Amino acid sequence: MGIIDLVFPRNCLGCKKSGVYICGSCIQKLPQPTPLCPLCEKPSVDGFTHFKCKKAQGLDGLLTLWPYQGVIRRAIIALKYKYAREVGDELRKYAATKIKDYLPFLPKDAVFVPIPLYWYKENVRGFNQAAFFGKYISQKVGWEFLPDLLVRKKHTRPQTELRSEERQKNIRGVFALSKHSQSIVKSQRSIVLFDDVYTTGSTLKEACKVLKTYLRRQGNGTGKVWGLTIAR
Ligand SMILES: [Zn+2]
Ligand SMILES: [Zn+2]
Repeated sequence: MGIIDLVFPRNCLGCKKSGVYICGSCIQKLPQPTPLCPLCEKPSVDGFTHFKCKKAQGLDGLLTLWPYQGVIRRAIIALKYKYAREVGDELRKYAATKIKDYLPFLPKDAVFVPIPLYWYKENVRGFNQAAFFGKYISQKVGWEFLPDLLVRKKHTRPQTELRSEERQKNIRGVFALSKHSQSIVKSQRSIVLFDDVYTTGSTLKEACKVLKTYLRRQGNGTGKVWGLTIAR
């Protein structure tokens, strides 16, 4: 038994079963989220943006692994606390397995880019959620991982504190691209943007806009940008 087990007994965050934070049966209980077009939020086959909704700077599709409820909701909340790494370790294994089922719908040969942390303070144990999930998942799935393609230019208020119309304003102009963006342009690759929870989508949409504006201007007119989130 480690020190963590003494402080935070390892019980399922859903059903209290001991030994794990996320048990298989609580995961199984969650309904499969209906894929929605990220622009009009109406159902869409396999998460593709409807043809009529497409925008030059908009997401080409969006997939989410689970609904934001039950054990998944509690696990995502727990990621902000001190035993984040232990919960995260279980969650990323389930996530990688589930993403493999989604691969036929996602762009081939994609680059996996996490939304950079900016509203969560990295917690006392130095847990960088984006890198922790992104590195593991991309290894399991076989994507190239570019953790610092997107960088944050400024601090913002936590999105969760804001109403939906304020969120868009809050996030505007937050992201910039790092030097890695050149290699994406040259290779005409597609990008999968990864975030934990999709609420209004303003974070993913803003990141997508920054990427696509740059890619198109530099001559990568074919690369797709998809959003992928743990929950919605
Ligand atoms: Zn359980
Ligand atoms: Zn649509």
